[in-house]
Amino acid sequence: MYQSGEKLAAATNLILHRTGQKEIQEGITVIVKGEGVWVYDQDGTQYLDMDSGVTRPVHAGYGREELARAAYDQMCQLAYFTPMQFANVPAIKLSEKLAQIAPGEINNFTFECDGSEAVETAMKLARHYHYYRGDKARFKIISRRGAYHGVNGIGIRALGTVMPMRQMMEPLTPGSVFIESPYCYRCPCNLKYPECEIACARDLSRIIEFEGPEYISVFIGEPIQQGFGAFKPPKEYWQIIREICDKYGILLIMDEVICGFGRTGKMFATEHFNIQPDLITMAKGITSGYVPLGAVGCTGKVLEPIDIFNHLHTYGNHPVPCAVGLENIDIIIREKLVENSAEMGKYFLEALKPLEQHPSVGEVRGTGLWLAVDFTMDKKTRAPYPVANLLNMVARAKQKGAIIKMMGMALEFAPPLIIKKEEIDLAVKVIEQCITEEEKALNLT
Ligand code: PMP
Repeated sequence: MYQSGEKLAAATNLILHRTGQKEIQEGITVIVKGEGVWVYDQDGTQYLDMDSGVTRPVHAGYGREELARAAYDQMCQLAYFTPMQFANVPAIKLSEKLAQIAPGEINNFTFECDGSEAVETAMKLARHYHYYRGDKARFKIISRRGAYHGVNGIGIRALGTVMPMRQMMEPLTPGSVFIESPYCYRCPCNLKYPECEIACARDLSRIIEFEGPEYISVFIGEPIQQGFGAFKPPKEYWQIIREICDKYGILLIMDEVICGFGRTGKMFATEHFNIQPDLITMAKGITSGYVPLGAVGCTGKVLEPIDIFNHLHTYGNHPVPCAVGLENIDIIIREKLVENSAEMGKYFLEALKPLEQHPSVGEVRGTGLWLAVDFTMDKKTRAPYPVANLLNMVARAKQKGAIIKMMGMALEFAPPLIIKKEEIDLAVKVIEQCITEEEKALNLT
């Protein structure tokens, strides 16, 4: 175990992701153990993990020996082999399993190391589809302002990722095109549902006509979006987007990297909207975060014209994470974690709803076990809420033994899908205390 005196040393040599010098100087917590929905630091302090590892992959909870055994057994059997001109058993079996559970006609899969790579690979597959059909000029990609699609080249430089991360990597990739996000609480079009007639989706036609349909390859979006805190678009949204893509021969990618594998109370969030995407990207919950794995699924229509997929990645179709993924999906199905996500998500949402009485709480929302409390300084105008005060609440929650995350002007919660009512009750108590304390500090009460 690390001793407390080693905190700073551990942080100085290791380059941490999205962590400021101030936080590093104050000392970084080293997490040494996880069990169920709890994690423990080097001093033995326990934390209720309300964000499944802070980036939300740990669907099956911590300490699952079955997953460790799946990796061990596969490493002993076959640790690695190339994805080019050879196949391996776990990758074949995982493709079969995913074909059974993925939405509709998504029946073909390839495996990468994480969500960012899955997004890049999906773009490439789409480009191949157009290229082999003779549509060689289709290079533009459309996404949404405020979307998040990862940190690799296309993800960060073309797909509207969160501002500080993207700005430093500019200029954007040529052909990056954006429409607004369906963030109804603070509508970017200044309209109100349903009178808006989903203007944010219909605007896609105008943008396509302006950019030239013959140059556009794909539209990509998260079915339920992270950017401003776990928000679900109006029910008509994805059908409108699907129709417009079809009209112009543009492929539709649903980025299920967060949503997939039960996070929103369905196996895939696409199922909430009754549409058929052309491609799907997945990661995180596919292995419950135990080993890195990303996947791209596509329909037969996408694959049919492609002769060779000109793509080679050393760790593509890697047998070890695929074996873990198979075991993990078995756990999700066997232990009814998708159903638990729907049921516990409803319980959590009902427990959080009364927080809307607080002067600083603008909206409580959520789908399955992905929820958000969106803050404002003025409920009438929905005036912005300072990031510093959100960060204070995150720090307060940690002191009280719960790990939560901020996103946009919201606090977000995405615990492991094994969470029980008692643990949700505990989390709600901590969240309410943090809100009350911060409102006092802001003189809002
Ligand atoms: N797409 C979406 C929708 C995501 O939320 C993320 C990560 N949060 C990614 C892609 C990138 O995944 P990774 O961090 O595994 O590269």
